[in-house]
Amino acid sequence: MFVRPRKEIVSLKLADDIDPNQLTGKHLKPKEFYQALQEEDVIVIDARNDYETQIGHFRNAILPDVEAFRDLPKWIEQNLAGSKDKKVLTYCTGGIRCEKFSGYLVRAGFKDVSQLEGGIARYGKDPDVQGRLYDGKCYVFDQRISVPVNRTEEDVVIGHCHHCGKETDRLVNCANPECNKQYICCEECEKKYHRSCSAECREHPRNRYELELKLEAEEAGQVAGR
Ligand SMILES: [Zn+2]
Ligand SMILES: [Zn+2]
Repeated sequence: MFVRPRKEIVSLKLADDIDPNQLTGKHLKPKEFYQALQEEDVIVIDARNDYETQIGHFRNAILPDVEAFRDLPKWIEQNLAGSKDKKVLTYCTGGIRCEKFSGYLVRAGFKDVSQLEGGIARYGKDPDVQGRLYDGKCYVFDQRISVPVNRTEEDVVIGHCHHCGKETDRLVNCANPECNKQYICCEECEKKYHRSCSAECREHPRNRYELELKLEAEEAGQVAGR
């Protein structure tokens, strides 16, 4: 099965976009970040999108319910405006988005903002922390779709099948080419619901799963007819 990689979009689309060279939070190395995670009264904000955090994130992190990075500032103003005096940690996949995001937080009046240098990618490779306190996998923007982070016995699966609720982190693209939503789906439900995220998607005339089934049937027919 082919899962389509998505593009990482790093713009906050603010009127005057943040330049991380001028305005950003403190950079923390993986070990420093790991220690800061365990401090009292710290809030951890995941700077990624909902389709990324659904398969993994730092333990106890706040997961903004946003589909795109540019929606993050609005979400923060609506949900965390009262937390500006708290110590804030933020992180993303490779450390690019959270550099901009922490700059935004500083400008928005958050007093103590730090970010994970090198992102989850470097954190997972650090020989000392070995991905500790990260639960589940890390969503990536290439053919691999997701990679492991926590290399200790504390590694867990984060995510539930959209249809049956079974624990899994298996991502698929909805077979409706006009929907194409990336969602979590177990193997049985992929067959049962024709890899569709909703009944409407399943009924779509160009449903890719159904086209694949048809092709397979035709190929089988040709072999049998030989
Ligand atoms: Zn299922
Ligand atoms: Zn769909």
